[in-house]
Amino acid sequence: MGTEMLFLRDAYVRDFDATVTAVDPDGSRLALDQTAFYPTGGGQPHDTGRLGDLAVTAVRKEGDDVWHTVEGAALPAVGDPVHGEIDWERRHALMRTHTALHVLCGVIWNEWGKAVTGGNMEPLSARMDFEFDPLPEGFGPRVEELVNAELAAGRKVEGDFLPRDTAVEDEDLIRTKVNMIPESVHEIRVVDIVGLDKQADGGTHVHSTAEVGRIRVTKTESKGKGNKRVRLEVVDG
Ligand SMILES: [Zn+2]
Repeated sequence: MGTEMLFLRDAYVRDFDATVTAVDPDGSRLALDQTAFYPTGGGQPHDTGRLGDLAVTAVRKEGDDVWHTVEGAALPAVGDPVHGEIDWERRHALMRTHTALHVLCGVIWNEWGKAVTGGNMEPLSARMDFEFDPLPEGFGPRVEELVNAELAAGRKVEGDFLPRDTAVEDEDLIRTKVNMIPESVHEIRVVDIVGLDKQADGGTHVHSTAEVGRIRVTKTESKGKGNKRVRLEVVDG
């Protein structure tokens, strides 16, 4: 069984019909046969929204099931149909932010050859750490200029599933440590900002970098040796 994750094939699905496959009354949680709700993971926070009359306040993936924490009226029963609707304003902001971060990774790799070491995102704001030591002179304004040029270029963003054997031999994917993905995974989802950045990624992205808008680098700081942090905001283009 498990939950089919509709956002992996189409990040623009805002509402959907599903059937309840499991109920956890102690946690006020529901598992569904399919969902458009993104569960926290891969650096991207979960969606919020509604399942029928219930408010969805958290979403987690456990094994093959996506669990929706809900608040409100009585829980439905296993087998009941539900209509889901995600908070699109929040999700779209997260999609813009997530794509902006991949553009940032691609730009920093191409310009300085530095890999990402960590990060975190909220709707329209984020931080990412890179293996700089130290940050180059004038880095903040320069990276902002380079990222905004790539966003304005309207590069296509494509999500695709690749067989693991193909993915581990892709030179663009090797730098993002695709070989660390367990061998039990037979298909790897890859997000390709065509001509700029390719990563194994399960998150949700906009169709074109132009849809992101622009970024503003709000702060750069040192988080220790070989670890420099970039803070940014996503703003309308
Ligand atoms: Zn990502």
